[in-house]
Amino acid sequence: MIHRFDAIVLGAGAAGLMCAIEAGKRGRRVAVLEHADRIGKKILISGGGRCNFTNLHCRPENFLSANPHFAKSALARYTPADFLALVEKHHIPYHEKTLGQLFCDRSARDITGMLEQECHAAGVAIFLNGRPREVRRTTEYIVSTGEIEFHAPVLVVATGGLSIPKIGATGFGYDVARQFGLAVRECRPALAPLILSAADRKRYCDLAGVSADVITSYGDQHFRGGMLFTHRGISGPSILQISSYWKKPAPIAIDLAPGRDVTEIVRSATHSRNLAAARSAFRDALPVRLADRWLDLHAPRNWTNRDLADLEQRTHRWEIVPEETEGYEKAEVTAGGIDTAELSAKTMECRKAPGLFFVGEVVDVTGQLGGFNFQWAWASGFCAGTSL
Ligand SMILES: Cc1cc2nc3c(=O)[nH]c(=O)nc-3n(C[C@H](O)[C@H](O)[C@H](O)COP(=O)(O)OP(=O)(O)OC[C@H]3O[C@@H](n4cnc5c(N)ncnc54)[C@H](O)[C@@H]3O)c2cc1C
Repeated sequence: MIHRFDAIVLGAGAAGLMCAIEAGKRGRRVAVLEHADRIGKKILISGGGRCNFTNLHCRPENFLSANPHFAKSALARYTPADFLALVEKHHIPYHEKTLGQLFCDRSARDITGMLEQECHAAGVAIFLNGRPREVRRTTEYIVSTGEIEFHAPVLVVATGGLSIPKIGATGFGYDVARQFGLAVRECRPALAPLILSAADRKRYCDLAGVSADVITSYGDQHFRGGMLFTHRGISGPSILQISSYWKKPAPIAIDLAPGRDVTEIVRSATHSRNLAAARSAFRDALPVRLADRWLDLHAPRNWTNRDLADLEQRTHRWEIVPEETEGYEKAEVTAGGIDTAELSAKTMECRKAPGLFFVGEVVDVTGQLGGFNFQWAWASGFCAGTSL
């Protein structure tokens, strides 16, 4: 059986749905092919079930890409305010959590419901449980799902990245890119928890569940926020952020007590320079179990000014070489992807293959934590959709 449309969109995630809605509003007959049994599964699990759908302070600097300028045009054309206007049109209650991060008050289902309604209003046809087996190009693009063939002059690939395979992530988009001779930048898990080395796991991982406010650093990137010990390593917002930049086998640095002079009180006491005084000072600055462990491992032998200065410095620059990230099973996103040099920054269309578009996470544009990945998905989807 053959279905003919003006555009085929592969993937009913954030970017694919936004693209389909915009193209549908322009009168294009759009088919969205999704291999899962429902749309927007990643939206549903995002932001702890409340979907951090955008960030009010979204800037190009919040993204990683081999070409840091590529995302500028799309981000300027479709802004957080544009998406917010859509959310408000649907009377979805939301709140700002911190640093411009906007979350649903109720549930991420509000966002998928909104996208579904918009698709319906724009006449978009969504085909669920349809796994595309093959993509061909004759005078148009042909996607076959076995018994059904979809034909259209335009194909938009919005199949996302590799993270969380158990809810349907596949590398299909990268395969289509390679099939058409496009360069794909090496993919890696990003916004992922880190696994510590065997030696550090022994030292720290029984602290699983303990969290602290820290600054993580790698190169010229610094992130302040929570760090959480896990059974295999470290996680929490500041660790997820730095993981996107970290390259094995370089160390990352962690400031365990930002802005505090922890040993000052010990240094200024000439009579009680001892472990008990240090314990009390560190317990004041860090969670008790972490403070005690830190001193078990790093307390100076003597209590000279120099020893205390060393301890202070080490507390603000704990250098660790993680063994690995937790991988795609736990990463929020995939860094790398379709080389942006292959795409028009205005429309997301391939230069080498007219009519072929890539939008969202499958492209080599990766947001930091905080609603930026969805903003990229909306913006890139919008730019493609309005050019069809
Ligand atoms: C646990 C978690 C929490 C997150 N929280 C946030 C957050 O709060 N804020 C934020 O900005 N970002 C968050 N992200 C990242 C965000 O979800 C993604 O960056 C975003 O969903 C990317 O949109 P996309 O449309 O490109 O891809 P996706 O949303 O992944 O959509 C791709 C779609 O394509 C489908 N697909 C895949 N392969 C095929 C195939 N072969 N055939 C047909 N269909 C296929 C998939 O099933 C999926 O529906 C989170 C990610 C995770 C994993």
